Amino acid sequence: MGKIVVKFGGSNFKNKEDVAKLLKIIGAYGEPIVIVVSAFYGITDFLISSINRVSKREMDAENVLSKLFEVSKGVIDTLIAEESIKDEIYDRLRERISELKKYLMGIHYLEEIPDFVYDSVLSYGERISSLVFSAILKEHGFSCEEKLPEEIGLLTDGEFGNATVDLVKSEKNVKENLSGETIYVIPGFYGVSEVGKVTLLGRGGSDYSASAIAYCINAKCLDVWKDVPGFMSGDPKIIKSPITISRLTYTEVAELSYFGAKILHQRTVEPVMFKKIPIRVLDISGFKGEIRPVTIIGDEGYVKKAVVKSVTYTHDVGVIQLIGPGVGIKPGILAKVTSALNKSKINIKSVITSQTCIDILFDKSDLEAAYRVLKGLDLHAVDEIAVLDNICLIAAVGEGMLEYPGVASRIFSAVAREGINVLIISTGASSVAIYFAIDKKDYEKAVPAVHREFFGK
Ligand code: ASP
Ligand code: MG
Repeated sequence: MGKIVVKFGGSNFKNKEDVAKLLKIIGAYGEPIVIVVSAFYGITDFLISSINRVSKREMDAENVLSKLFEVSKGVIDTLIAEESIKDEIYDRLRERISELKKYLMGIHYLEEIPDFVYDSVLSYGERISSLVFSAILKEHGFSCEEKLPEEIGLLTDGEFGNATVDLVKSEKNVKENLSGETIYVIPGFYGVSEVGKVTLLGRGGSDYSASAIAYCINAKCLDVWKDVPGFMSGDPKIIKSPITISRLTYTEVAELSYFGAKILHQRTVEPVMFKKIPIRVLDISGFKGEIRPVTIIGDEGYVKKAVVKSVTYTHDVGVIQLIGPGVGIKPGILAKVTSALNKSKINIKSVITSQTCIDILFDKSDLEAAYRVLKGLDLHAVDEIAVLDNICLIAAVGEGMLEYPGVASRIFSAVAREGINVLIISTGASSVAIYFAIDKKDYEKAVPAVHREFFGK
């Protein structure tokens, strides 16, 4: 069995105290591991805003570079005592930052941001944290090597901004390149296309990088460190005392992430699921010297007595309704709609049809573009196209949803008791999730009502 792959996210890199804690955690593993890191906290957002401002000439490339340098310096200065070593790290950091400078200068002169440049610039958040972190590890006596995705052959399908890792093409190279008896530190968030272009894996994509790497090396497990106590029965922001969930299946986690739980990137379970590699979620604030997972995600399901394990929600979706007396029985409408959306590269999150209405769910950011595409189509049976953009989608997730009677009715009775109107319902599309949409203004009442129904609080 391969090493453990350990992912540290931006929330584990908020300040120098955090980084000092990470050193203790790595010590506690007591064996060579493969570490995948995100950018330091807030740096990806900073790069996104900077890149736009540089392209409009509202900001200088130099300002961007000096901020990145300062953030790293803060960490290096506290965790490395020896001046000569610090100087050496600064030299390497300057070198890496000067690579970024070339891209930013290009943007400045072009006043435009080609896709491949955008992805390259954003990858520097991770490239800098991996460089700094691996240098610190070495200084603290760990045998450690930094490896970049392009060096280990983490290949993608080449789609800029939202690439998919090509597991088949990556597996052999990644495995070979990470086979030494040392700790490896790898920047997450990107892989390279077959022609060597940097392609990002989508926002929050380092979890997905780590999962793909775990797949390639047949990892013992994938450990994802967070600053929250694992998966919970509900969002602590609106549920008073949610319960921590100690075990979940890949499918449950995939559905929870799809419907708003922000713990793992939506695609994290995909790669490891193929090889049944467990994912363990760990809470950095609860670290007391031992590696103690809070939630373990694997293949083996179990049905809880109350069936529902977690209630989640998202405001990041919108619905377009195709309304007409016979849309449900007229053939060909969906075919036309889906192929047009596909041509425009717009992703459909879900479709629910009835006799008089087809409801199509989109990511909120795609809603306007999708509406334009659908307006432009000649759809005979459709009298009206309506947009619902002020909704909240709520999902109840748990193994056994479809086998155990009464779960749906308990959910909807709980919502009805609050006098809240349900706009759309879907049951049966997934065997572990029931979801529905309500007006956004009611979510702070609806989500706790469903949670109370199954957890008594
Ligand atoms: N730094 C990237 C982001 O903020 C990737 C990640 O954090 O996983 O989206
Ligand atoms: Mg992150």
